[in-house]
Amino acid sequence: MNHVCGRFAPSPTGDLHLGNLRTALIAWLSVRSQHGSFVVRMEDLDPVTSSVEHERRQLADLATLGIESDQVVVRQSERFDLYRDAISELESRGLVYACWCTRREIRDAAAAPHGDPLPDGAYPGTCRSVSDAARLRFEREGRRSALRLRTDGERYAFTDQLVGLVGGPVGGLVDDVVLQRNDGVPAYNLAVVVDDHLQGITEVVRGDDLVASTPRQLHLHHLLGFTPPEYAHVPLVLGADGTRLAKRHGAVTLDDLAERGIGPTTVLTMLLASIGLPAASTTSTDTHTAAGQFAWQEVPRTPWQIDEATL
Ligand code: GLU
Repeated sequence: MNHVCGRFAPSPTGDLHLGNLRTALIAWLSVRSQHGSFVVRMEDLDPVTSSVEHERRQLADLATLGIESDQVVVRQSERFDLYRDAISELESRGLVYACWCTRREIRDAAAAPHGDPLPDGAYPGTCRSVSDAARLRFEREGRRSALRLRTDGERYAFTDQLVGLVGGPVGGLVDDVVLQRNDGVPAYNLAVVVDDHLQGITEVVRGDDLVASTPRQLHLHHLLGFTPPEYAHVPLVLGADGTRLAKRHGAVTLDDLAERGIGPTTVLTMLLASIGLPAASTTSTDTHTAAGQFAWQEVPRTPWQIDEATL
């Protein structure tokens, strides 16, 4: 059997909240329960929203709960060459085209090229065949182009550890995903595939808001000749109002909770209880003990709702 390697890949754009910490914990416990290794990767592609200070705080919070990377933490912002190599490889096979569409134009474009309904936010292929005149006009207007993958109606289904069969019997349709944004920054779906491959990731545990992107990533793995990892998409954590847990819910980070006198051991106990594991008495040793007891069957398939007012 291949060596199991898992990862947690936050974007350093703010403090981790209970939902992020719970996902990280599940990823860590799953890997440790299989005696595998664990990698933390900073998805700091966006230079505007990411910061080294957020990175430092996120790593400190993870360490507080006993979750640490076995390897040097890589930053996507330092790996653009690797992503550009992958784009060049796809380009050499005629699989890349320039796209000048604005968000608004994409939203307003109705139908998919294959006549199938596209997943939310999917690209309908408008710029696949742009006339020379239009291209000139865009350039004169100073519009900068993104790069997109040329797809051909490919579909991918996969069995998720938590969600079960995703994509149904015919598979989820893959759209012409962005490979490089119009500001020249490599796009998330491309970077994540290149990194999961290069870091030898065999198991991806992440929030289930990314389920819809997984067929796109599977397609990129396939095109680039990579073996894709297994996926486990963890249901979101909701606040008392039933919406996705966020800063506006109040005390949702380790710092917020500490201010209310709720220390990391209590937080860890809460997180462990939410996945069917016994309470913690200290953080670092108990994360390790919990790994011995972790079982995917105990991880709920439904969102974990917390009442932040009672914290
Ligand atoms: N960086 C992404 C996020 O923070 C997660 C990407 C992934 O795990 O594939 O939402």
